[in-house]
Formats: sequence, structure tokens, C-alpha cells
Amino acid sequence: MSNSTFTMIKPDATSKGYTGAILDQIIKAGFKVKAMKWTNLTPAQAGQFYEVHKERPFYGELVDFMSSGPIVAAILEKENAVADFRTLIGATNPAQAAEGTIRKNFAASIGENAVHGSDSDENAQIEGNFFFSKLERF
Ligand code: ATP
Ligand code: MG
Repeated sequence: MSNSTFTMIKPDATSKGYTGAILDQIIKAGFKVKAMKWTNLTPAQAGQFYEVHKERPFYGELVDFMSSGPIVAAILEKENAVADFRTLIGATNPAQAAEGTIRKNFAASIGENAVHGSDSDENAQIEGNFFFSKLERF
């Protein structure tokens, strides 16, 4: 069981001013911030991050969206981090997300769904390493 996961607050949420409220919900749920940065991905960086979805019909839209404005990237620590964080954010489609989840509270659509959460321990490591050096983790 891992104690670390990776998240991004996506451009729809940063542009609507939800960054603080989302971070507050994450921290109140017991996650500790181990690394964090505010940045804007280039289309090439967004494409590389979501490369696993390259063959999916929504890939182009996803890359455009994820590079359309600032994001907040973070490494979070908690017992059972990957699974607990997926529970906290809710279903990919906010229309199907449980009451009180971050996507239910802040997401508008399946494409623009406010937050990313790693789906496995292995991907949490890969994704954290994509954004952060050793010097940037505390
Ligand atoms: P994320 O990886 O961002 O945490 P997820 O694991 O819930 O989301 P994935 O299946 O990994 O969902 O899809 C990655 C992202 O691609 C989604 O969060 C969403 O932004 C976008 N996406 C997924 N399915 C669709 C779709 N049918 N139409 C448009 N965009 C989609
Ligand atoms: Mg995913």
C-alpha cells in the first residue's frame, strides 16, 4: 500500500478561482503536501503527460485543455493515498461523482473535471517525477 499520490488542479478550476477551496478540501481530508508548483504546461508537455491516452478520441481535446491555462501540480502523502484520493475526487464524469467529492463540487464536465489523481502507485511515482526534482520535495 502506497502513501503517496500525485494531483493536478486543472485549468478549468484555476481559472474559476477554485484553487484555494480545492486545496482546502484536500488538506482537510488528511493529505499532506510534499511538493507543489503553479505552472502552465506547453501542448508538448501535456501530450507527454497524458501519452497513455494517445489513441483515445478525446486526446487532442485533452491536450489543448490541459495546456490552456495554469495548473497546480502536487505530491500528496497519506496512508492509502492513491485509492483514498480517487475516492475524494470522485468519478471522471462529474455527473456521476458522489456528493461532496471534489469533482461533484467543482467540475463542469467529463473533459473539464477540475482535478487529476494518479490511478496506481506506479503512475503516482512516474507523474511526481515528471514535475518535481528531489530538491523540490519536503
Ligand atoms: P485523471 O487521469 O485526469 O485523473 P481519470 O483517471 O478519472 O482522470 P482518465 O480515463 O484517466 O480519467 O481520463 C483522463 C482525462 O481525460 C479525464 O480526467 C478527462 O479530463 C479526459 N477525458 C476522459 N474521458 C473523456 C471523454 N469521454 N471526453 C472528454 N474528455 C475525457
Ligand atoms: Mg487517469
